Amino acid sequence: MKSIKQLPKIDGDLGWYLSSPNYGIKIGKALKGIQYADIAIIGAGYTGLSTAHRLKELYPNKTIAVIEALEVGQGTSGRNAGFIIDLPHNLDANDNNIEDDLQLYHLNNFSINRLNTFRQQFNIDCLWHHAGKYMVANETSNLRGLDAFEVVLKKCKFDFERIKRKELSQRLGTEFYQEGIYTPGNILMNPSALIRGIGIGLQNEINIYSNSPVINIEYGDEHQIHTIGGTLKAKTLVQTINSFTEEFGLLKNKLAPVFTYGSLTNPLPQHHIDKYFRDVKPWGLTSAHPAGTTVRYTSDNRILVRNIIDFNASLHSTEQQRDFAWKQHRKSFIARFPFLQDIDFQYTWGGMLCMTLNHNSIFEKVSDNIYMVCGCNGVGVAKGTYLGYYMAEMIYGNNSKELEFIQKTSHVSWVPPEPFRSFGAKYKINKEQLTAGNDI
Ligand SMILES: Cc1cc2nc3c(=O)[nH]c(=O)nc-3n(C[C@H](O)[C@H](O)[C@H](O)COP(=O)(O)OP(=O)(O)OC[C@H]3O[C@@H](n4cnc5c(N)ncnc54)[C@H](O)[C@@H]3O)c2cc1C
Repeated sequence: MKSIKQLPKIDGDLGWYLSSPNYGIKIGKALKGIQYADIAIIGAGYTGLSTAHRLKELYPNKTIAVIEALEVGQGTSGRNAGFIIDLPHNLDANDNNIEDDLQLYHLNNFSINRLNTFRQQFNIDCLWHHAGKYMVANETSNLRGLDAFEVVLKKCKFDFERIKRKELSQRLGTEFYQEGIYTPGNILMNPSALIRGIGIGLQNEINIYSNSPVINIEYGDEHQIHTIGGTLKAKTLVQTINSFTEEFGLLKNKLAPVFTYGSLTNPLPQHHIDKYFRDVKPWGLTSAHPAGTTVRYTSDNRILVRNIIDFNASLHSTEQQRDFAWKQHRKSFIARFPFLQDIDFQYTWGGMLCMTLNHNSIFEKVSDNIYMVCGCNGVGVAKGTYLGYYMAEMIYGNNSKELEFIQKTSHVSWVPPEPFRSFGAKYKINKEQLTAGNDI
């Protein structure tokens, strides 16, 4: 029997979850007593629910169950910045990657369409907005990041606009940025509202066990998945537990659990909107520097700030880390919006990016009746959605060129064991954050 030592925690005030239009609606119930399923999925994030939905389409007569440690929408899938990114995230100016970039673009758009179908089918109010995305730089040295991005956008023939400070400040309502690139395909939304809406929509067809942390597990012909007071027995198991995967004993030295933090204001008062954002449409931006700040002006007139990266082998963030992040968020916010000094952050939280060294994901058949998907590398809304779909296809035995591409590109590099992993990761993260300059 494998016992699970580190369990998911809440890590602060979860802004998207607490401000979600579907907040308070109960999704699923706790796992109690002995229950059965044909296929059990652990983890109710974008990857887990996407897997569950496709499995139910393929196997309408089988019982599919999803077990989640927290409420649906409280895990990392509900803590992110709310970008469903259409373009490959780690675009670089490497000729050899163009074909792969086009394939990733195709898969990301598949996820956008799929999530949009869920939104319409389940009538989900998640502030879905086809807003596009800005990539921006304040520091002259970080304009290099924009140049490299532009090279690949041109090679792949993706639509984009390169925008200088004056025009950018009119569009964003801040004069902070020197230059940016706008790409039109990205979606912005409240990620907790969307994943919760999917959970609400699926719970009639799929047994969702929420608030049910798996504390130990017995693998076998029939797996026994134990929570406090409950056991789920299932012939087939899919693990979609992100950075917690190594806790379950079937994967070792492949993941780097990297924390990052978000802060969200309440909706801005009307007089501020009228004065500073009168002609500004909701927007989202990421930085041209990998350690730079993500910012959003949301459809309900809030400001989101995300930055600071920590390596936490414990899989939790501390109050001191969240306080440090809040202080940096404040500085970044005031630097961009000096006229909003009177606006406080209502929520500050942390969440984990499940990174791998070579940015590939783990998409594996571990044995005849165990499957695993993780390592979405900070873009899991789109990636987890398509990986979950194609994991279900693989289990069912369907083949496609998309599945072959995913299998071909899912070979992750080895990371050294502790304490070398933490030492190396912290050194790399500190170096990255120092070079971001004013873009933090
Ligand atoms: C601050 C921040 C900003 C981000 N911004 C973006 C963004 O804008 N766009 C984007 O695409 N991605 C973004 N990401 C990354 C994205 O959130 C992840 O890639 C995504 O959530 C991965 O989805 P998942 O379903 O694989 O994992 P998760 O969402 O982590 O789901 C795994 C689930 O497993 C559950 N679990 C773990 N252990 C157990 C256990 N023992 N028992 C039962 N359940 C368990 C967890 O509670 C969790 O809900 C961001 C992440 C952070 C932290």
